[in-house]
Amino acid sequence: MCSNEPVAVRTRFAPSPTGRLHLGHALAARVAHDFARGHGGQFLLRHEDIDVTRVRGEYFAEIEEDLLWLGFAWDGPALRQSSRLPAYDAALDQLRALGVVYRCNCTRREIQVELAAMLAAPQGPEGPLYPGTCRPPGGEARQHGAPTGHAWRLDSRKAAELTGPLSFVDLRHGTLTVQPELLGDVVLARRDIGTAYHLAVVVDDAYQEISHVTRGEDLLPATHVQRLLQALLGLPEPVYWHHPLVLDAQGRRLAKRHDALAISTLRQAGLSAAEVLQRLDEPQNT
Ligand code: GLU
Repeated sequence: MCSNEPVAVRTRFAPSPTGRLHLGHALAARVAHDFARGHGGQFLLRHEDIDVTRVRGEYFAEIEEDLLWLGFAWDGPALRQSSRLPAYDAALDQLRALGVVYRCNCTRREIQVELAAMLAAPQGPEGPLYPGTCRPPGGEARQHGAPTGHAWRLDSRKAAELTGPLSFVDLRHGTLTVQPELLGDVVLARRDIGTAYHLAVVVDDAYQEISHVTRGEDLLPATHVQRLLQALLGLPEPVYWHHPLVLDAQGRRLAKRHDALAISTLRQAGLSAAEVLQRLDEPQNT
């Protein structure tokens, strides 16, 4: 792209329909919506519904109803990741051809046992990392095969060797250097659903032509992996904006357990959309 060509701004809100939207989601949606509208751009909705073990059908409509009530209408039809599985398979094939993924048969229990036996278990921002049990010693990916019965993991070291140094731009933090091993050898295809979050997100951010990925700062570590995947797959590089999170009274980030702070609960309690959104601007949000 010519450097002085204006970038068409496209943002997205990408909830998982595994629970009701809460104040944290309202903030994420507002950031993405207002950024797009403020730049004359488009705001898209993507349901991240690949985890069939946790998705519940009723949440799709509830999420859309909440967004419309809050005043965040999206452009075009909402995308459902469950309709995009062949695209994720194709991306995994590409990574297999590059030799940067390997099969992993470890159970969660086996990983825990191995980590417990290690003198210095590898640590990531949110706890211990996969210890590399199934990583092929020569760095060669194993045989092709259907992604069932075993997971596929990213060989983060090998991937980084292939791409060389990478960075990404965050509107809050500036230019950040990718730390390819920050989250270790993440799973790119779960054994039960054949794909996984990081892979699906990068494929769809490119497919939906997202120029600016806005999301909570809890996902900042994920961006390191996702930028690496974009480079491996030859996908465009969005600009990022990791915004601060809405916290509960104890300073913890909101989760599904905060049902009292669900948008639908607040609405049923008689709050207006403006009152709900106002809470996002108060220092003590909840
Ligand atoms: N689906 C993710 C979530 O609900 C968001 C993914 C993203 O913004 O990249 O936390």
